Amino acid sequence: MRIILLGSPGAGKGTLAAEIDKKYPVAHISTGDIFRENVKNNTPLGKKAQAYMESGKLVPDEIVIEMMANRLREPDCEKGFVLDGFPRTVPQAEALEKILEEMGLSLDRVVFLDVDEETVVKRLSGRRVCRSCGAIYNMEFKPSSRGDICEKCGGELYQRDDDREDVVRHRLKVFYEQTSPVVCYYEGKHIFSRISSERHGHSLIEEFEMAVGAKE
Ligand code: ADP
Ligand code: ZN
Repeated sequence: MRIILLGSPGAGKGTLAAEIDKKYPVAHISTGDIFRENVKNNTPLGKKAQAYMESGKLVPDEIVIEMMANRLREPDCEKGFVLDGFPRTVPQAEALEKILEEMGLSLDRVVFLDVDEETVVKRLSGRRVCRSCGAIYNMEFKPSSRGDICEKCGGELYQRDDDREDVVRHRLKVFYEQTSPVVCYYEGKHIFSRISSERHGHSLIEEFEMAVGAKE
């Protein structure tokens, strides 16, 4: 299976990708994770990407495209892949098409996780993370029974900088400006599916499986 997940910050791409990763033999490729890893290890790529990431901007296309051209040629991608966070711009989508064509491959599905802006703001600005064990809570949807303290380990809960409401709204603005055209780019194609991230009755992975026609 060769799949792209599209969706705004907070739509649940990362959560869904992790579930797909557990259930299907695919390479889970998150460009955000790759960049963060490179920044942490202070690699040449990390040095190029860091300033853009810190100011909430997209890393320039040529850097992202070169990185992905290499990543998609690694052996683990032969079993299939789920792209999470790429392509984010139309030039990236066009470049991806060319890379896959050169490799003699094509995409099976582009899955768009649709969610409204206010839900995302509530999800992300309400998110709290435990400083000690990393457990994730939500003030509105999944509060800790101990208030500002982690139920599991007694650690202190805090809010990530990029989850502050103003930063969340900025990340959403970048998404609507730069990534909505990518949704339009794929929308007319037969491989495009839209699933609701505000699910009613079905879990996200079930919605996904219905969209890609996957059954075990
Ligand atoms: P978000 O928190 O917005 O969901 P990610 O964790 O996917 O973002 O990525 C973090 C940062 O890495 C982005 O804000 C951006 O600077 C950079 N980045 C990730 N993927 C891409 C991409 N495909 N094109 C450009 N920049 C990217
Ligand atoms: Zn904890």
